[in-house]
Amino acid sequence: MAKINQNFLKLPGGYLFPEIGRRVRAFSAENPPMPLIRLGIGDVTLPLAPVVVEAMAKATAEMGVKETFRGYCEETCGAYDFLRFAIRDNYKAHGVDIADDEIFVSDGAKSDCGNIGDIFSVDNVVAVCDPVYPVYVDTNAMAGRAGDYDGEKWTKLIYLPCTAENGFFPALPEGKVPDLIYICSPNNPTGAAATVEQLKLWVDYANAHGSVILFDSAYEAFITTPGVPHSIFEIPGAKTCAIEFRSFSKTAGFTGNRCAYTVIPKELERDGASLNKLWNRRQGTKFNGVPYVIQRAAEAVLTPEGQAQTQESIAYYLRNAQVIRQGLEKAGLTVYGGVDAPYIWARTPEGVGSWDFFDKLLHQACVVTTPGAGFGPSGEGYIRLTAFGDAAATQEAVERIVKVL
Ligand SMILES: *Cc1c(COP(=O)(O)O)cnc(C)c1O
Repeated sequence: MAKINQNFLKLPGGYLFPEIGRRVRAFSAENPPMPLIRLGIGDVTLPLAPVVVEAMAKATAEMGVKETFRGYCEETCGAYDFLRFAIRDNYKAHGVDIADDEIFVSDGAKSDCGNIGDIFSVDNVVAVCDPVYPVYVDTNAMAGRAGDYDGEKWTKLIYLPCTAENGFFPALPEGKVPDLIYICSPNNPTGAAATVEQLKLWVDYANAHGSVILFDSAYEAFITTPGVPHSIFEIPGAKTCAIEFRSFSKTAGFTGNRCAYTVIPKELERDGASLNKLWNRRQGTKFNGVPYVIQRAAEAVLTPEGQAQTQESIAYYLRNAQVIRQGLEKAGLTVYGGVDAPYIWARTPEGVGSWDFFDKLLHQACVVTTPGAGFGPSGEGYIRLTAFGDAAATQEAVERIVKVL
């Protein structure tokens, strides 16, 4: 009889978003006094940039002509040179030297963050930030690296608290040394962006202990503070200890288009093996690449025109973030994030739990947020608001929240 991967049975049944959905549906059924405004979504809402749409139309037309039709992409793990070279040049323009064969194009940073576990032993000790993007936790649980779930935490994971006290950036662990360390900056959900000094601390630690940092910079395009690093490879020493995940999803509105990339430097070795070669083998075996039309779309994002057009959308979202920040601050809440990220992490009023505050905003202001506790124990006492909504709706949501506080 076929046996299943028992680790799947240990996963708590997707608690956060289904529970939010349940509460929103229950409230909607009571005929709310105003239409709901959703500031809980983690998806973009603005359309693709015109230059991207043009590139897709042109590539689609090529696919309909015998001479320019493309089947499987025979180049590096299904990635066309034109895109890998454009990514390499974009890094170079930002002062980071990455070789084209250190870049692997994929259908998502979510897939890559999860799949990267394939090249690491199940014995590795994994550290995650708390609060955390749930993908890092759940994929390691599926692989058997997380132990058992005790109702709040996984027994084998190291949780690195990120709180207002430490500026939402994790301190080095004191006990057990983690082998794999997930860092997301700018951060989902806290909106915090790590400085060079903060990242250097972890790069030095990883090099000293042979750990590997799995660095998720899906939101790097939202960085506005000068000097805040966009890439872990801006930190000296990172090439011998870090893997970087990037995505066109949030930076260029590709959540429905699907294109991302992972950078693994050739200097990065563990157990005498090149992690770049292992990932190349893994992708070459299990992945056949991103559609040609989408790779052309991604290439267009990296042109000067594409950069200018996508920056307009990012500026729009960041203006929403300012509206949320300023409104909530004026109403007396303590807020973080929203400057280098599309997320605002707001402290709940004294003595109010994050689910209770979520309910209050839902019932009294008809605004949907995300309770911080859903992202991990250290998220208790916070809610997350996203800046991905419509500008007028965001403005109205903030006015409503201010009225009920
Ligand atoms: C949205 C998001 C991603 C992007 O995932 P894709 O699969 O590329 O759409 C990656 N990491 C974090 C933390 C995110 O919030």
